[in-house]
This record gives sequence, structure tokens and C-alpha cells, in this order.
Amino acid sequence: MNTCFNPPRRRLLQWLGAGALIGRAGATLALPGSTNAQFEQSFGDAFLDQYWQRNTDGAVMVGYYQVAGVLLVPDAAFRADYQVFLDAALAQLAGMDVATLDDRYRTDWAVLDNELRYERWQLTTLREWQWNPAFYNVAEPFAVIASGSYAPLEERLRSILSRLQRVPEYYAAAKQSIQQPTREHTALAIAQNQGALEVFGDDLQRQVDASGLSADEKTLFGRRRVAAREAIGDYLKWLQALDATNGAARSFRLGAALYQQKFAFVQQSGEEAPALYQRAQRERQEVLAQMEQLTTQLWPRYFADSAPPADRLDKIGRMIDKLSQNHVAPQDYVASIERLIPQLTQWVSDHHLIDIDPSKPLKVRLTPTYERGVAIAGIEAPGPYDPSAPTYFNVDPIDTESPQQAESFLREYNNWMLPVFITHEAIPGHYVQLMYANRSPSRIKSLFGNGAMIEGWAVYSERMMLESGYGNNAPEQWLIYWKWYLRSVTNTVLDYGVHVLGLSEQDAKTMLVREAFQSEKEASNKWLRVQRSSVQLTQYFAGFSAIYRLRERVRSQQGAAFELQRFHEKFLSYGSAPVAVIAQLMLPATRGK
Ligand code: ZN
Ligand code: ZN
Repeated sequence: MNTCFNPPRRRLLQWLGAGALIGRAGATLALPGSTNAQFEQSFGDAFLDQYWQRNTDGAVMVGYYQVAGVLLVPDAAFRADYQVFLDAALAQLAGMDVATLDDRYRTDWAVLDNELRYERWQLTTLREWQWNPAFYNVAEPFAVIASGSYAPLEERLRSILSRLQRVPEYYAAAKQSIQQPTREHTALAIAQNQGALEVFGDDLQRQVDASGLSADEKTLFGRRRVAAREAIGDYLKWLQALDATNGAARSFRLGAALYQQKFAFVQQSGEEAPALYQRAQRERQEVLAQMEQLTTQLWPRYFADSAPPADRLDKIGRMIDKLSQNHVAPQDYVASIERLIPQLTQWVSDHHLIDIDPSKPLKVRLTPTYERGVAIAGIEAPGPYDPSAPTYFNVDPIDTESPQQAESFLREYNNWMLPVFITHEAIPGHYVQLMYANRSPSRIKSLFGNGAMIEGWAVYSERMMLESGYGNNAPEQWLIYWKWYLRSVTNTVLDYGVHVLGLSEQDAKTMLVREAFQSEKEASNKWLRVQRSSVQLTQYFAGFSAIYRLRERVRSQQGAAFELQRFHEKFLSYGSAPVAVIAQLMLPATRGK
């Protein structure tokens, strides 16, 4: 299973990472007449208001509900208008004197400029709206509004009533926009739009019937709901017919040119995709060498009576299998996570790794039923427009699974793996990064933050914990850690291999199962994910290695004065900006290089 759910970028906005919240807007005062003030005036809340008018689905997902009643029709006129909007904003950004902005606004500028250029590129060059039928799906914002608690039921239902009106137009525009879609995204669109039908099913009708809407409103609601279902049903039939006659389907593989362009927007690192791929290949070999060494060291302790297999992958695999037997019982799983959170917090504090605000302990809870099945556990933080909502650590229970499934799951999240996983998701991983990001309130970075920085920090925090001695430097702990880390590295090799080098399904699965010790099921899921997304899978290793390199550069620059805790706190204080931009601010001597 994936560490965290990182869905393929949909529509024009991606709600990045684990979510983010921010404090009061305008907490930083910019002096009138300064470039900072100019930026605040041009790209503050008024700009974002305009942005959300044109991204009403994305708006709902980040808790900006003023436009909840508006469904935009994704037709050619909409795209033309959106391009004019992007061009105007980009021209204004280009006219600013970036060098005179302070750190906060400079990082905001870099993030926003990249975001808008990326959106323009998606619209005009990548053109996913043309070849990815899964781009079109109305369901999610409807589900969010229906299950939300931000307003009374009647108000939310009236938003839904208004939003429902244009669903038939929406799918008509979808059919007009699609040309030569890929088979894989067509299959995904069929599966996801079948799921969408459920959102407009009997449950919604029951909510309406029990509400305080007027009789006329209820009648209208019923009519529009049925029309929406028909439009989705019609889209499904149309896609199924396409699928059958899809002789000239586009390949799901992005190809070198588009891949490298997308890579530059997503990573903002300055590194080229082939260079990262080569680094990941070398890293894979180094990790395997470490794993073999640890296995050799552990062998007599666990297999005193038998000689190790000659093949090093078999040998490492057998040791991992053996160690995986050491896991909690299904009924103790949630409680073991509840115990780990304060334990990791204490460790981080005792070892001076980073300051964690003790007034906001993270609450562990079972994932609400309607959200289950997306990730196995993760932070649920309120959106940037709803900062008062609490932050939870959601855990999916495993007691509903079959005993075999539960056993296989628990072997994966064994006693050495579980703390690494919780480190990544919570402390000092995603949750702590989020906590620091909130201290420098920036809607722009909360909304459009750099995914490689966010994932990279979580992956980096795993290494940082082990380097500080967490797990007593036990070879078992390190071996299981390397297996986990190998997954991040292999993700990069897989993504580039599939989209640029034409790696086959068979070869990809061999690499995942045999050379990265993943289960068949995990490998199948990963194969689906790499067919449907691109570049996202490279963020883990790219972000991790950029942060690690930056740390070592700062360490060598500061010499004896270097303090790990100070580095971590400074690094996170810039919010979710690209590591390369943070590096420019943290290493002033290299500015302008
Ligand atoms: Zn993550
Ligand atoms: Zn077992």
C-alpha cells in the first residue's frame, strides 16, 4: 500500500500532501509601497478569490465554500478564459522585482509563479483534459458538501441543488473535449464514474427528504438528481463504447519530452529527470549492499542451523520474512499506534531533533467510515480556509479484514516497520512539517506547496530518527528501514523507467517484488498507480536527497557551530517551498549562483 495517498493531479488544482492549515491571513505586515506590499495586494486573498471562482471543485476541497453552489462546465470557452486569466497573472508576477521581496514573499512568489506556469503548460501542452477521461468526474465535491459540517444541512443541500443543474452540460463538454484517450485512463474513468453514481443515490435522497427544504425544492432536487445520474450513465456508456473501439489509443506512457517538462514543474529542483534516475539506480545498489551486509550479520542469530542462499536477493528476502513475523496482534494494532505517538515525541525532544509544540498533542482516532480505504493511516488536517477544525491522526482498523489479509498487513507493518511508518506520517514527519508551515502563514504555500519538499521531509525524518539512535541501532531495525527506504528509491526508477524508457509490466513487477521485496499485491497496486500518474512517484527520493544534501552543505559551512535542531527548525520555517528555493535562503553565500 502507498505510504500516503498522493492522487494523480486532477483538474487544475491538486490539494497537496497531507493537507495544511494556516493561521490568520495578513499576520505578516508588509510596509506600504514596498514590493512585499505590492505582492500582498496583487496576490493576496483577492487574487485567490478570483482563482477559486475558476476552480470551484478545488475550492470545495480546500474548504473555500463561497463557490460551493457553482459547477463549471469544462468546455473550450472555459479553457480559453482560464488561459487569459493565467497569462495576466503571470505577466504581473514577471513584472515584480523579486530580489527586493523578503523571504516569505520570495518563496510565495516562486511557488505561485511555478504553479501558474505549470497550469498553463497542463492546459496548452500536456492537455490531459483531452486524453484522460478520468479528468471528468463531478462526484467528490458533491460528497464533501453533503457530508460537511461547515453549514446547516439545508444550506449545503441548496448548494448541491444549484451545483446539480449543470451536470448534464458538464458531461456533454467532457465528451466533446476527449480525443484519443489512453486505455488505462479510460478504464480508470469508468471505475471512478461508476463510483460517482453512488454519491447521487438513495442516501442523498433520504437526506433531502428529511431536510427542511420546501416541497418545491425537494421536487426540483429529485429531478436534477435523476438527470445527473443519467448524464453519468450516458458518459459511462460512451466510455465503454470507446474502450471497445479504441484501436488508436494514445499510450499511457508520457514519453521523454513531456516527462522532462512536467518533472521540472513538479520538482522545481533544477535537476534533470535523467540525472535523478541515474542517482536512484546507484542508490538502489548501495541500499542492497547495506541490506546484504546486515543480513550476513544477522544470519547466525536467526538461522543458526542453515547456510544462507547463494543468491543475495533470496538471502535478504528470507531474513526480511523472518523479521516480519515479529508483529502485533490485530486487536493491538490501533493501541500500538496510540502508544507510539507520545513515545516518538519524547524521543524527538530528548535527542534535540526539533521542537514540537506540546500544547497541541496529536489525537489518534479511527478513520471515519466514509473516508476509509484510501490510505491505511494519515494526518487529517483542516483546509487552509477552515483553520479552526482539529487535526487528527486517522487509523484504519484492520479487524474487518480476513485473518489472512490481516496477517499479511501486520507482517508488512511489523514491530520495526511500524515506528518508521508513524515517523513518516506524523512525528517528526508530515505532522511536524505541517505544524511549522502553519507558523509562517502563507495561503499560497499551503495551497500550492512543493510536493517533493513535503514528501522529502517525511522520508528524511525517518533517516534522521535512525541516525539519532532510535531502535538502538539494531541491525534488524536498519534492515527493515532500508527495505522501506528502498521503496522510495525504487518508485523513482519505476516512474522514469515506465514513462520514458518503456519498462514493461513484467520487468516492473520483477523489480518491485524480487529486487525491492514488495508483495505481489503491492506491486500490482503500484503498477496501476504508475500507469495513471507520472512524476509524483519520484518526489519521495528527489525531496529526500535534496534535503539530505542541503543539510550536509550547511553542516560543512557551519563546522563546529552546526546544530541539527537549529537546522531542522530553520529549514521548516520557510513552509512548503521547494528545497532549492529554501537552499538559496539558507546558504546566502550561494545566492545568484
Ligand atoms: Zn508521505
Ligand atoms: Zn504473524
